[in-house]
Amino acid sequence: MPVAVYRGKGDIALDEKPVPTPGAGEVLVEVSHCGVCGTDIHMVLEGWGPPGIVGGHEWSGRIAAIGLEVDGWAVGDAVVGGELVGCGACRMCASSRPSLCEYRPPVTGDGHDGAFAQFIVTAAAGLVPVHDGVSLRNAALTEPLAVAMHAVTQAAVRPGDRVLVTGAGPIGLLAVAALRGCGVEDIVVSEPTKGRRQRALAVGAARAVEPTDLDKPLMPMDLVDEPMDAVLECSGRVEAMETGLGQLRRGGRLVFVGTGMSTPRLDNNRILLNELVVTGAYNYDAGGFTAAIDLIASGQVPVDLLIEPDDIPLTGLLDAMHKLAAGELVAKVLVVPEG
Ligand SMILES: [Zn+2]
Ligand SMILES: [Zn+2]
Repeated sequence: MPVAVYRGKGDIALDEKPVPTPGAGEVLVEVSHCGVCGTDIHMVLEGWGPPGIVGGHEWSGRIAAIGLEVDGWAVGDAVVGGELVGCGACRMCASSRPSLCEYRPPVTGDGHDGAFAQFIVTAAAGLVPVHDGVSLRNAALTEPLAVAMHAVTQAAVRPGDRVLVTGAGPIGLLAVAALRGCGVEDIVVSEPTKGRRQRALAVGAARAVEPTDLDKPLMPMDLVDEPMDAVLECSGRVEAMETGLGQLRRGGRLVFVGTGMSTPRLDNNRILLNELVVTGAYNYDAGGFTAAIDLIASGQVPVDLLIEPDDIPLTGLLDAMHKLAAGELVAKVLVVPEG
């Protein structure tokens, strides 16, 4: 089967591998669509990944074969999967925080190949059925939407709150959609690229500004004129992290959603004097995939604005990663791996 293998920094190439066999508790899925994630881009363009890996974790497809000890699934079922459900027994899982499971796999993956491939083997425990009436193409948004919804959970926002989203790439746009999905309307997006600002407004932001438009209060006790209840930092950029902290009202929350290689300098006195909360959002809420695909099925999510119109083959992956990193592609890019 065709796969896109990461070979080293900036290098990803089409290769052939044997179709894998599902083990106990696993299924084989023929991949329909797989989204390109910021993590995939960091892995390839910045060289985070160990050479030889196959990325891609935002996939949808149909079950092609079933391993031993798997109940409730049939060949041909439309699924999304790869949801990390946690061990179910540790303190974090017991408090419904599977993203912090003490036994979660490393960030670089669990050793299984990802879905930039025609087939993927995956744990049956992490499968969620795709609703009738939801296309496999739209269903491929489940994982990143679940990530965005978890970021909203971490921001602890309520309808009526004012929220800043820094960075309107694919995950920032999904964050806007997730905020709208829970009734938040006063959403400001800060984003340097004009096309992405326009898209953010179309998805449901109330205002879109350039990052340089954001005030930088001088003293730690000073607040901006219209402070935010929460900031969802989706760009991974140091300036956005540092400026984002300065936009919060007293008691506000800064949530890191986008990963980045450089470390910000956060004003500790601003955090202290205003009792700001700085936290992160990793993976998803308990049951996050089900909540995300339910939201997609509800029709409330403007999927056509969140997915690039042209899907790409495996051979187009590196080019798409460069264009996403440069902001030339606005929304989520989907790979159709059949080649
Ligand atoms: Zn992702
Ligand atoms: Zn656990």
